[in-house]
Amino acid sequence: MVDTAPIRAFLDDKHVTLAERVSEFAARELAPLPEPKDDAAARKQARELLGKLGAAGWLQPIREQDWRACCIVREALAAASPLADAVFALQALGTVPILLSENEKMRSRWATPALTGQAMASFAMTEPDAGSDVASLGATAEPDGDGYVLSGTKTFISNAGIADFYTVFATTDRAKKDKGIGCFVVPADTAGLRMVRALVLSAPHPLGEIAFQKARIPSEGRLDAAGEGFKLGLATLDRVRATVGAAACGMATRALSEALAHAKSRRQFGKPLTEFQLIQEKLARMATDLTAARLLVYRAAWEKDRGAARVTLEAAMAKAFATEAAQRIVDDAVQILGGRGVLAENPVDRLYRSVRALRIYEGTTEIQQLIIAGQLIK
Ligand SMILES: Cc1cc2nc3c(=O)[nH]c(=O)nc-3n(C[C@H](O)[C@H](O)[C@H](O)COP(=O)(O)OP(=O)(O)OC[C@H]3O[C@@H](n4cnc5c(N)ncnc54)[C@H](O)[C@@H]3O)c2cc1C
Repeated sequence: MVDTAPIRAFLDDKHVTLAERVSEFAARELAPLPEPKDDAAARKQARELLGKLGAAGWLQPIREQDWRACCIVREALAAASPLADAVFALQALGTVPILLSENEKMRSRWATPALTGQAMASFAMTEPDAGSDVASLGATAEPDGDGYVLSGTKTFISNAGIADFYTVFATTDRAKKDKGIGCFVVPADTAGLRMVRALVLSAPHPLGEIAFQKARIPSEGRLDAAGEGFKLGLATLDRVRATVGAAACGMATRALSEALAHAKSRRQFGKPLTEFQLIQEKLARMATDLTAARLLVYRAAWEKDRGAARVTLEAAMAKAFATEAAQRIVDDAVQILGGRGVLAENPVDRLYRSVRALRIYEGTTEIQQLIIAGQLIK
């Protein structure tokens, strides 16, 4: 259950209602789903989850760019099914550049079906030699008549192989560095685009490497005004970043609730674990860190919703703090559950495997710290 009381100052009434509705949906429809056994099953379940989320209307906050609502939905989904949360996240990352670009053709062709769960999105920025230093990306988009020819490799791409379209970053003029990067919508059935291989994580999450070999795309697929593709990518990450913190908070909330329930019922040395002060210290720290993380997350989303041009500092603080705190909280929950906490069937083990990637994707904690320090020094 997404608890709105500690973050109420940042919410409107509609957010409180949303939190109740989406929490009830997640508990009823998502929590009972079995964890997919392998990568093929994860890919199949991800597609099914997309349909469910779309039909229930939970992707609409992305279209409305209501970032507090997006945070609430991600908290609820991540607590019940980290895979459902990843599906939501990629619909946001893949469509926000389209919404921001106001490219009407791409909006009706891809963003509208994506946000009703009828088309799966993907966001292709990272390359084998361009991770944190993503402005150095090497994929090229050569102007060619009334369009572009794309070449290059993208790796660590969520939804690779199951997406219906990819929002791709490639350089049109390497000499201009980040000012020469364009942003393109590439349908999955484009000739010259191929899935190279799946990358398999310890937690279910469709991931892979794709390659473009002279893939031709029409000029209407370009989202940026010449040379502003990287800016569009950063503007997207600026908005979505706090929601990664929200997903972390959802996982941490579930971990705390599992740990608390276990500590109350499990008896050792003749009394419940909750009577041991070392366990109490853990529970107190978990709850305090979680509340602090949620306040940072909703502060960043609220700033964006009330019209701040940039929330670079707020979003970086929210993402770095919430994902690091969630990692500690989930680890403490595993510890409180003892041996049961490392059984693959246990929800806290699933959270342990799922939460780790959040400190890495959409900018590692170290990169967030550089952003925060950069803002302070400026
Ligand atoms: C599950 C998952 C899903 C992902 N999904 C997508 C996706 O859908 N689309 C997409 O484009 N990408 C995606 N990524 C890629 C992700 O964004 C990158 O992994 C991330 O940006 C880090 O890049 P890297 O892995 O190349 O690490 P590197 O950049 O090689 O970094 C390695 C280590 O060095 C540190 N480091 C790097 N530079 C500095 C510095 N200047 N100062 C201090 N430390 C530094 C990093 O913090 C990190 O700890 C995904 C990754 C994962 C794990």
